[in-house]
Amino acid sequence: MSRPEETALPRFPRKTPAAGAALTAPVNKIIPFSAVDGFGNRTAIFLQGCNQDCLYCHNPETIRLCVGCGACVDACPAGALSWAEEDGSRSKNACPAGSVSPGGPSSPDGLRRVSYNFERCVNCDTCIRICPNSASPKIRNLTPEELFDQVKPFFPFIDGITTSGGECGLYLEFLTEFYRLVKAAGKTTYMDTNGQIPLTGQEEFLAVTDKTMIDLKAGTDEDHRRLTGRDLGPVTDNIRLTAERGKLYEIRTVVVPGIVDSRKTVELGAGLIAPYPEVRYKLIKFRRYGVRENFSDTPEPSDELMEELKEIARKKGVKEVVIT
Ligand code: SF4
Ligand code: SF4
Repeated sequence: MSRPEETALPRFPRKTPAAGAALTAPVNKIIPFSAVDGFGNRTAIFLQGCNQDCLYCHNPETIRLCVGCGACVDACPAGALSWAEEDGSRSKNACPAGSVSPGGPSSPDGLRRVSYNFERCVNCDTCIRICPNSASPKIRNLTPEELFDQVKPFFPFIDGITTSGGECGLYLEFLTEFYRLVKAAGKTTYMDTNGQIPLTGQEEFLAVTDKTMIDLKAGTDEDHRRLTGRDLGPVTDNIRLTAERGKLYEIRTVVVPGIVDSRKTVELGAGLIAPYPEVRYKLIKFRRYGVRENFSDTPEPSDELMEELKEIARKKGVKEVVIT
């Protein structure tokens, strides 16, 4: 399967916040309690924007940032979306691509953007279904302190927080500040990442990060580029680095028949983590739910294939292999 024209890769050059601008990140969703996002019971936080565009993405509405076309404003049945005057005092660094423009091509004027009213929203997701840009207007640009205030009420009931996406690694500076607050409150910090943002040299970030969970989507550079649009090298570098530093909780491979050579993927991943018995390998069965329409006929993998892949990982020396 080749990469279709319409999924051309979004670009995310990271930007340093302008002097005096608030450090914020676009928060797509907070799940108060999750048992599948790392050790124990965790609060999962999803940030908007991704630097990969995987063919089988299960949350394509998290890939891009709103460009302010306005198509969703009139469609919202709850009046939760409106045109807003640009607030020059904050959010300047929320979009690392600079792609949240102050007014899109069809916005009423050049100084407007779509504003989201969290209280009014009834979560019908009409806006997400009609967005032509793989984006969501249901974003709150929060500072690390504001996000901490949002998740703090869950702390008596959780082991820690996990940030995900989109790709939360696009917001390392924000995460560093947020993780600091979480750790000071006695909770653990996990990062669920596609591994594309190099963590080498990110010492401040690593110092406040307990564990990472890294996707390994393909076992060859050719497969990886075809599936995600990006190189495999940064991912394997991050797996090696975090494993060596004792900061890798698991690697994850989504098994999709016929897209990439899953046996090669698992051989590569298992070889990387086998020297670290505390690191587990999670093999995830591809499921059609939530994928783009042109991917909805893709077959799900058989139980036999999943067991075969598990055996490959175990033979390579991985102590814990989980199939979900
Ligand atoms: S969320 Fe999508 S539809 Fe709504 S204004 Fe932004 S780009 Fe347009
Ligand atoms: S999900 Fe919320 S913001 Fe989107 S259309 Fe429905 S009510 Fe409006």
